[in-house]
Amino acid sequence: MRFASLGSGSEGNGLIVQAGSTRLLLDCGFGLADTARRLGRLDLAPEDIDGIVVTHEHDDHVGGVPRFARKHGIPVYLTYGTMVAAGAGKFDDVAITLIDSHTPVPIADIELRPFPVPHDAREPAQFVFCDGQRSLGVLTDTGASTSHIEQMLSDVDALVLECNHDIDMLMNGAYPYALKQRISGRLGHLDNGTASGLLGALTKIPGATGRMQHVIAAHLSKQNNTPVLARRGLAAVLGCDDQWIGVATQEDGFAWREIT
Ligand SMILES: [Zn+2]
Ligand SMILES: [Zn+2]
Repeated sequence: MRFASLGSGSEGNGLIVQAGSTRLLLDCGFGLADTARRLGRLDLAPEDIDGIVVTHEHDDHVGGVPRFARKHGIPVYLTYGTMVAAGAGKFDDVAITLIDSHTPVPIADIELRPFPVPHDAREPAQFVFCDGQRSLGVLTDTGASTSHIEQMLSDVDALVLECNHDIDMLMNGAYPYALKQRISGRLGHLDNGTASGLLGALTKIPGATGRMQHVIAAHLSKQNNTPVLARRGLAAVLGCDDQWIGVATQEDGFAWREIT
């Protein structure tokens, strides 16, 4: 199993997960040509994508999905709430599979395991991707951790984890008060400290210790975070070198990573 990112952050997201001959794209916040260009960096073409999974209706996640899916005939998997909030009419002529955020969905060689998250969207879900042996957990766009989230992520072999902001940078920065409240609120985005706390909680769940092959900080704010700060918090929890922690960037995402 392997995974890579097309880009990560408030200007657009896209993550590729491959197991066997199945390749899924999680979210697509980029335009048609830009998506193809970003796939090309990973030696992929649009025709190589077997399905698009959508987390929620915010533009940085769903903005590029309907056109890309229609143009290349790719089926889309999303919750009813996400479809309605994104605009159901946008998905005309697209093959849609509605998913329930508590029910696993087999998609060829990958089992998709959704779980709900607290975020200011209609029916947001995040996912664990499993090939029957190994699994990748993805958690971005959540304002808080929950015991259910931690349970779902407790036995993953790799984790892509939102480190949206440093709380001091956000609160001392230039954003308007209302935006600061939204981002830091329970339905907003994870800050470095909360992300580290979540990672720490995972390592304490029995059976989870020491299995993580990759930990990648994602959805970093350009204004209110730095890769150094995001890495430092997560590395402190794991007791590893800061550089072992990956960072997904807005322009480059990150290159392929293997889960063995
Ligand atoms: Zn987002
Ligand atoms: Zn969002």
